[in-house]
Amino acid sequence: MADRTQTLIQQAEQDLLHTYNRYQIVLDRGEGVHLYDVEGKEYLDFVAGIAVFALGYHYPGYDEALKAQIDKILHTSNYYYNEPAIRAAHLLKEASQMDRVFFTNSGAEAVEGALKAALKYAYTTRGKNDYEVIAMEHSFHGRTYGALSVTGNAHYREAFGTMPCNVRFAELNNLESVLALVDEKTAAVIVEPVQGEGGLIPATEEFLWGLRNLTRERGIALIFDEVQCGMGRTGYMYAWQKYGIRPDIMATAKALGCGVPVGAFLLTEECAKYSLVAGDHGTTYGGNPFACAAVAKVLELYKENDICGHVQEVAPYLTEKLQALADKYDCISEHRGTGLMQGLVFDRPVAPIIAEAMKKGLILINAGANILRFVPPLVIEKEDIDRMAEILEPVIAGLPS
Ligand SMILES: *Cc1c(COP(=O)(O)O)cnc(C)c1O
Repeated sequence: MADRTQTLIQQAEQDLLHTYNRYQIVLDRGEGVHLYDVEGKEYLDFVAGIAVFALGYHYPGYDEALKAQIDKILHTSNYYYNEPAIRAAHLLKEASQMDRVFFTNSGAEAVEGALKAALKYAYTTRGKNDYEVIAMEHSFHGRTYGALSVTGNAHYREAFGTMPCNVRFAELNNLESVLALVDEKTAAVIVEPVQGEGGLIPATEEFLWGLRNLTRERGIALIFDEVQCGMGRTGYMYAWQKYGIRPDIMATAKALGCGVPVGAFLLTEECAKYSLVAGDHGTTYGGNPFACAAVAKVLELYKENDICGHVQEVAPYLTEKLQALADKYDCISEHRGTGLMQGLVFDRPVAPIIAEAMKKGLILINAGANILRFVPPLVIEKEDIDRMAEILEPVIAGLPS
């Protein structure tokens, strides 16, 4: 390891709380779909900051919009109106086909808000305040306390005792398992239309329709967590739009600001009518002019450049390449996912594969110990997919059997 990298990593490990086992590189800058570390080494980026940099680095027009906002004002309180937030909310409504927007600083906060909105809806429409939420096994909704309570990975919750939300877990794509848990205490069902951290598993259309019909019949709020699978990643602005199964409440973040930390939860008008009102929820930073200038510009760029159309065009090529690897190598048991959100399931931990690919100039990440995850910038081209496969295949071929 070069001196500069080593010195920086040593310093980091003395100062930062050790909540991540980090890869041994220090990233410095990005350009297009490439990243550069402090030694100047180039990497092809198939992670995009975990589904964040949908437009890659320095997409034409993006930086200029942020710089222009810096010159005006970064922040005002939510007690006043500001133009970027008004523009961003309007564009997000149009892109999401939802009716009411609340901006947050992160995905976890978007989920927190979505849960509060659902509980308030139940409180207003049905009285009482001791409701339960149904979530899915292997789901991931974030690390704050409320979002953690609906996260299906028991290991993440173990040390933290009683959760703030009463949650029961059903099985994804098994409607019977949800039906078995629904009772008069159920306020909401929360589901990722495509599970990300849980292993790139799409919910089936049949399951999502089943949930939609069930929750509608019982006056239960249906929440879709689109934090990872939204913003064009599946070839649709939001994954549910592929089937037209509109939720009552939706959470979005990750690519929403394409690098500026911002999220949102959105409600339908029918739900908003009985949900959060003045005094029920708030945030200092959420939806500030700087974050919203990013959101507005990102949504404009998506429209002008038909980012979803591009995903629909290149994603089948990624599918083809990854399926070919899965067919060829016995150590790969399954290929999964949809759009530019795909995974290869290995018969072993993938950390050594990721480390080796990194040495050869390709950045990949896992989703669970044995799954290699592919969530590249959405602006990736077929040549980049070819290059990825050229680097990855020899790494797989060189694995001990
Ligand atoms: C990443 C993620 C979150 C949490 O978002 P943060 O911005 O990390 O808080 C929530 N839900 C899903 C589906 C995610 O992928």
